[in-house]
Amino acid sequence: MQEEVTLVHTQKLWNTVEDFQNMSDDEILNRTSYYELLSLYINRNTPLAARLSCGGTIDAALAVTQGRCQRALAIVRPPGHHAEPREFMGFCFYNNVAVATKVVQAHTPTRILILDWDVHHGNGIHLAFEDDPTVLYISIHRYEGGTFYPCGELGGPKSCGKGAGLGFSVNIPWPEAGMGDADYLYVFHNIVMPIAMEFAPELVFVSAGFDAADGDDLGECHVTPAGYAHMTNLLCSLANGRVVVSLEGGYNLESISNSTLAVTKVLLGDPLPPLPPLSPSETALKTVWEVGMAHSQYWKCMGPRVPVPRKDIIGSTFSLNEILNKHRAESLFTTHNIIQVPLPLQEPCLRGGKLALSIMSNPTHFIMFVHEP
Ligand SMILES: [Zn+2]
Repeated sequence: MQEEVTLVHTQKLWNTVEDFQNMSDDEILNRTSYYELLSLYINRNTPLAARLSCGGTIDAALAVTQGRCQRALAIVRPPGHHAEPREFMGFCFYNNVAVATKVVQAHTPTRILILDWDVHHGNGIHLAFEDDPTVLYISIHRYEGGTFYPCGELGGPKSCGKGAGLGFSVNIPWPEAGMGDADYLYVFHNIVMPIAMEFAPELVFVSAGFDAADGDDLGECHVTPAGYAHMTNLLCSLANGRVVVSLEGGYNLESISNSTLAVTKVLLGDPLPPLPPLSPSETALKTVWEVGMAHSQYWKCMGPRVPVPRKDIIGSTFSLNEILNKHRAESLFTTHNIIQVPLPLQEPCLRGGKLALSIMSNPTHFIMFVHEP
């Protein structure tokens, strides 16, 4: 197990987790407040639970890649997608899906898609593969300008991977709570599936947190069991149907149970539950457009083909400053026949780097004034 976990994590992190089993009650009590800052809760059984969870995901993946079954579901705890190569956090000790991905690739070189629909960004998976073009990581999560856990710019729309892995990390960051089936399926049809088909994975992992499920008070979104079923069905059309689903976060037991059951039925080939008419929110339209533009340089299927949101939505992105500048320029022209010239000047007295140019001319003289508007 150590050899497998250290394909992703440092030896130091493995040692720290394994040492939990030797801690006395007093030591555990003393360190509780430190680990709570990382949203971690530890006891002497933590290393065993972390190993079982990670090992369960590895076994599920190998069962699929070795042809013992077509699809698999790993019902595991603790979750893994927040565990970074060097740091554990957010209820996660070992990064189950990232480790299983590395193990599969150690057996056979394989192009792998990891689709993460947990309501939080999977910072650990993102970091583990950010420079790796053989793993496409797509995460749909609440972002809210980088203020939603795990916070920071790693989960933002322009965080697309680095080096050889540029373009292979695709963040779909919701700017607010309240997203539902229509929004998720719109993202699937316009971002996830086009990029996934261009990538052509040979295996699909689903980092399946169910905290975007309807009824989860922490995620505050409204994906229904039918919504999860339809997303699973779309993923099953990839990679010859080789799909491995592994549980991540989720804070409402009833929502987790109903959603997991719906996903399992699809994995077993049951008919899909019906959906009502779906109309994506304006937030979803704008998010898809932003992500498509950010990835148009990496994927042929993105860019001009990404649906453009309605004009009134684009209009709402002008800042007050831009509107005032436009008004002032028009007024200077119509009232004083003065035009503004954009010049690349840095002097602090020339706000906005602009000067006004007025021209007076007669048959013998040409006078030009350059001044602050
Ligand atoms: Zn989560």
